Amino acid sequence: MSMPNLPAFYLKHLIKDTLSSVTLYVTQRCNLACRTCFVQPGSEEPALSFYENLARQLPRLMWLDIGGGEPFLRHDLPQICSLFDTAILGIPTNGYDRKTIVPMVKEIASRTRGRLVISLSVDGPEPMHDAIRGRGTWQRAWSTFEEVRGIDGVALKVNTVITGENLPSLKEFAAWVRSRGADGHSLMLLRGDPRDSSLRPPPPESLRDAGPGLLAELRGYRYAHGALGARLLWEYHRLAWALSVRTLQQKRQVVPCLAGRNYLVVWPNRTAGPCELLPPVGSLDDTALDALIRSPQWSRQCSFIAQGGCWCTHNCALLASILFHPPSLARIAFAAMGLS
Ligand code: SF4
Ligand code: SF4
Repeated sequence: MSMPNLPAFYLKHLIKDTLSSVTLYVTQRCNLACRTCFVQPGSEEPALSFYENLARQLPRLMWLDIGGGEPFLRHDLPQICSLFDTAILGIPTNGYDRKTIVPMVKEIASRTRGRLVISLSVDGPEPMHDAIRGRGTWQRAWSTFEEVRGIDGVALKVNTVITGENLPSLKEFAAWVRSRGADGHSLMLLRGDPRDSSLRPPPPESLRDAGPGLLAELRGYRYAHGALGARLLWEYHRLAWALSVRTLQQKRQVVPCLAGRNYLVVWPNRTAGPCELLPPVGSLDDTALDALIRSPQWSRQCSFIAQGGCWCTHNCALLASILFHPPSLARIAFAAMGLS
């Protein structure tokens, strides 16, 4: 596996303003029924040939995020992943089925051209996590964590979905995750329409108050990018947290969302669009991706987004928008150098 030259790659995307990241939902099937889940159950899944065709239409990406459902339920996941040319390949998992996940991660690590990042979904200490994702799921997730951690060439993160329910327990939990040797820990606010409609993101004031303590626990991660990279990423987390709080307070995009310009989503029913929280723009069954991106419907949805017709704290889209927003980027760089 060759490590891509990320800074050069990033500059190319910044200058050319081209598509840099894609989220590819490969299945809606899952072996859990989490209360936080916003995925509509369904059995439709494209064949491998669909991904072969799609991969031929995409430029080299900065990152490709696989989504689900539980992606490891697809036995052809290693083949799908190997088709795409991406600097970073991210795959989330609930970690429930260790015996399936571990050999597949090994195979994907040996075949991918990019840096493989596995993100294990864990939502707090054992009683909290099990209350959200089901009894026994915490133990199973950590037994998968222990085995995946030993695989060469794989970065292993923990992803935690934040709700009003688990926020109070997360500072202690974040410290514990670090002590287990994770390579990183992403904190993401609940989004979409969760299966348990009583769950809500925490109010912005609670997030603002919890931020400094929680983010301090993320400071020790080096993310395998060296000391400067770690500082930049930590400053990114701080900025993303502050922007999320402002977004929830002001109920508007506080950084222009670039979904549809540098980021797009492909769903298991072979439709595509700028954002998973908006309706798909069209089907890739009858239109090539490039033609869909140049279509009036795509432009209309991008204009709607650019005019602030929607807002959210979706962290994948926020990451893509912050990284390609020069004022935010400058803020991160100055803070990392201790100049702000
Ligand atoms: S949140 Fe993830 S693990 Fe849980 S049911 Fe939904 S897809 Fe499955
Ligand atoms: S602001 Fe949020 S909902 Fe709107 S396009 Fe961007 S990511 Fe999607």
